[in-house]
Amino acid sequence: MSSTAGADNASAPRVDPVGLLGLDESGMKEFLADIGEKPFRSRQLRQWLHQRQVYDFAEMTDLSKGLRQTLTERVRINVPQAIFDKESADGTRKWLVGLESGNAVETVYIPERDRGTLCVSSQVGCALDCGFCSTGKQGFNRNLSADEIIGQLHFASAALEAEGRGRRITNVVMMGMGEPLANFRNVVSATNLMVDPYAWGLSRRRVTLSTVGLVPALYRLADHSNISLAVSLHAPNDRLRDEIVPINRKYPLRELLPACEHYLDNTPHHAIYWEYVMLDGVNDSLANARELVELLGNIPSKINLIPFNPFPGTRYVGSPRERIRRFADHLQKAGFITTIRRTRGQDIDGACGQLVGQVINRRNRGKQGANRVPA
Ligand code: SAH
Repeated sequence: MSSTAGADNASAPRVDPVGLLGLDESGMKEFLADIGEKPFRSRQLRQWLHQRQVYDFAEMTDLSKGLRQTLTERVRINVPQAIFDKESADGTRKWLVGLESGNAVETVYIPERDRGTLCVSSQVGCALDCGFCSTGKQGFNRNLSADEIIGQLHFASAALEAEGRGRRITNVVMMGMGEPLANFRNVVSATNLMVDPYAWGLSRRRVTLSTVGLVPALYRLADHSNISLAVSLHAPNDRLRDEIVPINRKYPLRELLPACEHYLDNTPHHAIYWEYVMLDGVNDSLANARELVELLGNIPSKINLIPFNPFPGTRYVGSPRERIRRFADHLQKAGFITTIRRTRGQDIDGACGQLVGQVINRRNRGKQGANRVPA
């Protein structure tokens, strides 16, 4: 659904309508101040949009007629639409979400016994080029706006509701396409709405941002957010991480780890979730496990080992099951809570690292890519 209304005055400069859906509490208050409205309207609007998912101002009966008219003229409410969707044999559902300008991203719903997790994209493509991730191979086109990010919850929850099977979104992971911290402002606004009691109202423990570890942005995140943090580590030393996760050359482990500890010290969380993809003969030896124990030392940590999901053209192969088990055992014996991620939705290319969407006009990675970090 997309309702764009604007004062169509040929002589006035064209002002892009505000994307109302993506405004968090402070953004909404700022916007209301701009149009001469009282801040308490912010709560009412967030409740209409995000709790009741009402997008028609005419239905927002506790707002004044004047405000409803201004909103009709000044804002747009843009809920992205699915171009198609697929359901895996294991119940995982993946949507290709159409955006303006012909791009598309993917959103994945992963049902489990006691929860339903929505995996949300933050960028069209990704500029970071981690060799084991097919999104990186797509190149980068652009950041998603805050309304395109939160909009994924809107259309997914409507689609789940329409199924009539009682499936709901209880958790969100920012683990879809893109590097969330390279789209800092929009991701912070959207995740603020996810944990806002007057918007989506999810617990901060149930909303997780996964990052490759852009160090300056990690420090800023501690000032603007308090959601759970997952870090794509994938290697226990710089030599190996430089190769697997190239941004490590810019932000090596000796800078990354203190930034993660800073996040724990400044938010109510008790541990960092480290993600570690198991690549055959690359990072999966017992010596690597020992190094990892040494590296993480006393940092409160939970380790999530990810079986590699292959895609066409990759030079990597997944570690054998037995080696993943041994690696996990070593970490557990050293006192780290360690889980092996269950691969979900692989038959619909909906598993980690398999999301490709539709990236048109991809830009030059060198210019847009690994060096572009929020100030
Ligand atoms: N850019 C962010 C979030 C997106 S990826 C990040 O890097 O954290 C979400 C997780 O899936 C990351 O841990 C990523 O490293 C992992 N991943 C990427 N490609 C994968 C693949 N082919 N197989 C398994 N996991 C993969």
